[in-house]
Amino acid sequence: MLTIKNLHAKIEDKAILKGIDLEVKPGEVHAIMGPNGSGKSTLASVLAGREEYEVTEGEVTFQGMDLLDMAPEDRAREGIFLAFQYPVEIPGVSTTNFLKTAVNEVRKHRGLPPLDAVAFLNKMKEKMALVEIDKSLLSRSLNEGFSGGEKKRNEIFQMAMLEPTLSLLDETDSGLDIDALRIVANGVNKLRSADKATIVVTHYQRLLDYIVPDFVHVLYNGRIVKSGGKELALELEEKGYDWIKNEVDATA
Ligand code: ADP
Ligand code: MG
Ligand code: MG
Repeated sequence: MLTIKNLHAKIEDKAILKGIDLEVKPGEVHAIMGPNGSGKSTLASVLAGREEYEVTEGEVTFQGMDLLDMAPEDRAREGIFLAFQYPVEIPGVSTTNFLKTAVNEVRKHRGLPPLDAVAFLNKMKEKMALVEIDKSLLSRSLNEGFSGGEKKRNEIFQMAMLEPTLSLLDETDSGLDIDALRIVANGVNKLRSADKATIVVTHYQRLLDYIVPDFVHVLYNGRIVKSGGKELALELEEKGYDWIKNEVDATA
């Protein structure tokens, strides 16, 4: 589904990604872990096509398409969804209206007719229940005045509505209490399927108790320096990141 080869990216002349290789197949959940500042958000942002980042080398293909050649909105239409570490507030646009447009845009792209008002409402209700989000939030301006937890839940709600092929979750767990964490993870787990994939970026192992990954990768200084199964996350939890840094620095 997604193949990343030797990806390098910079922001404001600072090299951040320094050669990322990653292969994600349908049905898989990959966790990207690593110390603060290692480039996790940069990787997610580059995949989603955020324009502050400049790709300087490498290739990314998504379902056979040259992803780096596609505008961010085309990536979204093709089924890539990024849940932001810091969700943006959009005054004047409600979640409901935003989603009505977004859902029908994706459907159009897939050759499907737009959902009528009743079908859209039913879908909203179903997904609202999934992430236990309050109806009143959805008629307010997108994320404006939402608490941290409400913003994160709203991100997962949007994801549930859009049913993306590839979901990128950037530290969706940060700032969540344990109940919200469980709800968010549950939403993600319900969306798992054989034809979809998820990349979960997280600093802590905690989320991975709920969203059990097939693979765990450690990003450090712009490179994936270690990959393993879910047990790697537990090892990191126990030992911290210093041993990885020491290992890498020793061989550098
Ligand atoms: P992580 O998500 O792993 O904490 P980031 O991808 O956010 O890491 O950041 C990687 C590095 O890039 C950090 O050193 C950070 O300070 C730097 N960085 C991120 N965004 C910017 C920016 N807008 N301008 C300059 N440096 C940035
Ligand atoms: Mg960070
Ligand atoms: Mg980050």
